[in-house]
Amino acid sequence: MSNKAPRGTRDILPQEASRWHFLEERFKKLCYIYDFAEIRTPLFEETELFVRSVGEESDVVKKEMYTFKDRGGRELALRPEGTAGVARAYLEHGMHNIPQPVKLFYYGPMFRYDRPQAGRQRQFYQMGIEVFGTKEPSADVEVIKFTAEFFLSIGFKNLKLHLNSVGCLQCRPFYQDDLKKFARGKLSLLCPDCQKRALLNPLRLLDCKAESCRELMKDSPQIEDYLCKSCHGHFNEVLDLLKALNVPYYVDSRLVRGLDYYTNTAFEFISEDIGAQGSLGGGGRYDNLVESCGGPAVPGVGMAVGVERIVLAMEKEKLWPEKNEPEGVFLAIDGPELREEGLVMLYSMREKGLRAETDYLNRSLKAQMKFAHRNRFRYVIIFGKEEKLKNEVKLRDMLKGEQLELSYEKALNFLI
Ligand code: AMP
Repeated sequence: MSNKAPRGTRDILPQEASRWHFLEERFKKLCYIYDFAEIRTPLFEETELFVRSVGEESDVVKKEMYTFKDRGGRELALRPEGTAGVARAYLEHGMHNIPQPVKLFYYGPMFRYDRPQAGRQRQFYQMGIEVFGTKEPSADVEVIKFTAEFFLSIGFKNLKLHLNSVGCLQCRPFYQDDLKKFARGKLSLLCPDCQKRALLNPLRLLDCKAESCRELMKDSPQIEDYLCKSCHGHFNEVLDLLKALNVPYYVDSRLVRGLDYYTNTAFEFISEDIGAQGSLGGGGRYDNLVESCGGPAVPGVGMAVGVERIVLAMEKEKLWPEKNEPEGVFLAIDGPELREEGLVMLYSMREKGLRAETDYLNRSLKAQMKFAHRNRFRYVIIFGKEEKLKNEVKLRDMLKGEQLELSYEKALNFLI
């Protein structure tokens, strides 16, 4: 039996890859405009890093991490998300000692062992940004505004920005306690996962997907009633700034995020068109993350968007530009004895930066024309015995169906 791509992974074939390029370009352009600099961190890190930052009791660490021991006995994990590695690198390279804030972006594959379904894979790509070194609400807004702008720039008009404050280490424990108490009264009715959450990770009770749990938790205490003065003030300032910048939002008091490092602001951009996995991107503030990685208390805020989900949602919403204009030139060499001369032409076209291709299988002229058409070349240069005798080539415009006879130099000039 032949091999297949592992469950939960996908090959991105050339046609789809061009869509990915489009997203990558938009993202990188926005990073340039917003002054985020790229960082590339390893695909695997010490397992301990994720346990300390993402949280021992989070689903990501508990159930979804790809962990392994290498041949030297080191405990390693394929990164399930990007922020922890970036925070580790920020610290390791002393970036906390340079003028703050430090604004970084990353792009690459993440790995989570989860049940695959549409929009959920075991290897998926994230594009993310991080702002380290400022507690200011304007930094939260910078990250949210960037994300809103990114989605607008690729054509989304009706994504909903869900926003919440998940409090800080001072005020959140009181909320968690009351949430636990509330859940305890209904423990036997909750799903097995929520029964565990009620003990270990009560915030996650709020985003269980099971309808019965949602119904049971409907009247649970609300975090906004527990926020301390500082968290309250911070959140309100974020909301005011978003209003001033005309970024529409929806305060969603049930929004908690899967990663434990979030404090204060948490947000998600949600598409209602792609079903259960509707979160196209999200993020928030993580004021204790750098400290939990063993560094000083450096605040931060960031976000990540998922490329596969965006591609899926863009397909659903028909946001892809339909253009697939023919481009470049195909050199049809008609006769093996003309190959040498033909190749000189081919490479001279490429030197000039033209998309140029030829035939490698000694096909008939007719078959070469068909190939050129199928591969969407705008022009074909025909170079056969007859043309060679006249010191000319034929230049065919595949779109207009027009053909000219002229010297190769003239054809090249025309194409350039
Ligand atoms: P998170 O790191 O969990 O906050 O996720 C940020 C974004 O990454 C989500 O909004 C999704 O777009 C994407 N994402 C997270 N997990 C997966 C997955 N298993 N498969 C595909 N995309 C994912």
